[in-house]
Amino acid sequence: MERQANIAPERNSSDEEEKEKKDAVPSTSTVTAATGSSGTESEDVTMDMIRRFFTQTLGFGGSSSAKGENGVPVDKVIPDLTFEGLTSHWREHGFKKIVTMVGAGISTSAGIPDFRSPGSGLYNNLKKYKLPHPTAIFDLDYFEKNPKPFFALAKELYPGSFVPTLAHYFVRLLHDKGLLLRHYTQNIDTLDRLTGLPEQKIIEAHGSFYTNHCTKCRKAYDMAWMKEQIFSDQLPTCEQCQGVVKPDIVFFGESLPADFYTCPETDFKDCDLLIIMGTSLEVHPFASLVQRAGPRCVRLLINRDSVGQASLVPWMGPDDCSLLYNKPNNTRDVAYLGDCDSGVEELSKALGWYDELHQLVNEERKRLKLEEEKQSHVKKPAQGKQEKKTSK
Ligand SMILES: [Zn+2]
Repeated sequence: MERQANIAPERNSSDEEEKEKKDAVPSTSTVTAATGSSGTESEDVTMDMIRRFFTQTLGFGGSSSAKGENGVPVDKVIPDLTFEGLTSHWREHGFKKIVTMVGAGISTSAGIPDFRSPGSGLYNNLKKYKLPHPTAIFDLDYFEKNPKPFFALAKELYPGSFVPTLAHYFVRLLHDKGLLLRHYTQNIDTLDRLTGLPEQKIIEAHGSFYTNHCTKCRKAYDMAWMKEQIFSDQLPTCEQCQGVVKPDIVFFGESLPADFYTCPETDFKDCDLLIIMGTSLEVHPFASLVQRAGPRCVRLLINRDSVGQASLVPWMGPDDCSLLYNKPNNTRDVAYLGDCDSGVEELSKALGWYDELHQLVNEERKRLKLEEEKQSHVKKPAQGKQEKKTSK
């Protein structure tokens, strides 16, 4: 089931661009008058104009450089749209207003399974709960009838035993340097918060375990309270009305947090660099954030697979969420295909931030360890307990 898309696709801008391109093709008479020639020469010029028109508007011709009106190279936001080109531009001119958007890929090196990938992920571990279908565990209707499987799973996956990755800390470093406008995350694992990034900088698009509310009277409960309930195998029940208390994870059938809809308005107005990490760009409306970035905003994708590109079948229509790296009409998209941690490692090396990043990671991980030791009275039971019982 797809989450509701409340963001209206901004098709107008691309339609206008198309119109501008068409308007830019001069008529035959203009060309003849301008060149002051006649006969075969003007026919050649006309043919050339037509050829260029088709190349530009329909993408025929496959030139390696971006061509705009009249065949002159388009105004690329940065001259070299490679990873090296981006880092050298960053070193020389800087980016000052950065937005980051991340998905499960940023957390996989922390050991957190990606519950959306069949086979490798969470859905495989759900068989024992005998659900009508795997996604039922995040289905609000099912949860209201039978919340137990969700809490059993929550116990297994409870945030706290995982530490943020290098990629998470790179975002924190951007904030420390005063460059981060906002961090949008699809992840519910709270690792973004664990880096020490201030709450107002983070938009948890799919919610998180950090806050919890009674499903009946909306009374709020904190993370510590919920953790205690989950680990003592009690169904979290409201002290006020006996309703079930649910972590504020966005279930299927629920709307996304309000700030997901309000913040992009201002964040993307001035954003000069959008860093997209570890997301398939397939889950909407989250993926549609890429189209909120203005035409002068450079978009850097750091991901294991090449994602976010438009469909190869042109009659399906232009894909509003598409990135244009490696495409002839690309003006501002750059891709680094690899793990998120390797990507930020390379970035930090190129920007001269390598030592700073690793120092931050070491300090913060020490801090987290100390905090964990303080709270160690709330223990997660040892894994593999069930296997012991069933073994002969
Ligand atoms: Zn209640």
